[in-house]
Amino acid sequence: MQIVNNIEELRSIIKWWRGEGHSVGLVPTMGYLHEGHKSLIVRAVSENDRVVVSDFVNPTQFGVNEDLSSYPRDIERDAALCEEAGADLIFHPEPEEMYSSDHCTFVDMDKLTKGLCGKTRPTHFRGVCTVVSKLFHIVTPDRAYFGEKDAQQLAVIRRMVRDLNFNLEIVGCPIVREPDGLAMSSRNTYLNPAERKAALILSKSLSVGKEMLESGERNGRKVREAILRNMKAEPLAKVDYVELVDAETLEPVNKINAPVLTAVAVYIGKTRLIDNFTYLV
Ligand code: AMP
Repeated sequence: MQIVNNIEELRSIIKWWRGEGHSVGLVPTMGYLHEGHKSLIVRAVSENDRVVVSDFVNPTQFGVNEDLSSYPRDIERDAALCEEAGADLIFHPEPEEMYSSDHCTFVDMDKLTKGLCGKTRPTHFRGVCTVVSKLFHIVTPDRAYFGEKDAQQLAVIRRMVRDLNFNLEIVGCPIVREPDGLAMSSRNTYLNPAERKAALILSKSLSVGKEMLESGERNGRKVREAILRNMKAEPLAKVDYVELVDAETLEPVNKINAPVLTAVAVYIGKTRLIDNFTYLV
């Protein structure tokens, strides 16, 4: 497995692979890889002849007061995980390789990016759409793999691919959790032991909502309130949002009669964590 930092070098490798008739899968990540990322890579390896993992902490998707500089990084550990998962190449560019100093073109989206995480992170999805478009142009994959952990991101990317006629398939992969239920995230490393315990409130509260939906509750407001009530019992948790939205349009729903995404974002101390589940009616 090779690590490539340079766009032109990556392009020539992809061209060579294409000449050999190989299909190409892409797994975009910000690195500090865990079992959640690994599940995407393993799936990509099973469905493509060659797999590229991008490992890039993308500055344009961080807000001014967010954790860009403290975001954890460990390329050597990442390389070992990618190798074990069967990836062929890690694309690990410097920010200057991805963004010229006078870069001024962005991919933006109305609607789907305004609610949920877009409320507290108003420029986040512009950064995500821009970097993912750039990666799609550089790698030209047949398939790209994204986790349902970032459900809004997955919906936004699917919509961008449809709206801008990118010629590839987007594959959504299930959330991988720690044994106690916490969704795996590179940001979990920020949590001290008390916060790590408190962070269980996300998956626990979501299960309360899930049980209500499974036992026939169709009033979105009631489910939302039950989840919120549950969260408030945890003193270290500060709720950013609890929302029930249409799984495709991400519009808020009250009467549930189509697939519904229940998504939460919660600050545990200074760390903002997200989690969700989709209920298919
Ligand atoms: P990140 O490095 O956090 O930007 O994540 C890169 C990709 O891995 C995204 O598509 C995420 O949705 C996905 N991912 C992150 N954590 C998990 C998880 N616990 N389970 C499944 N996919 C995940």
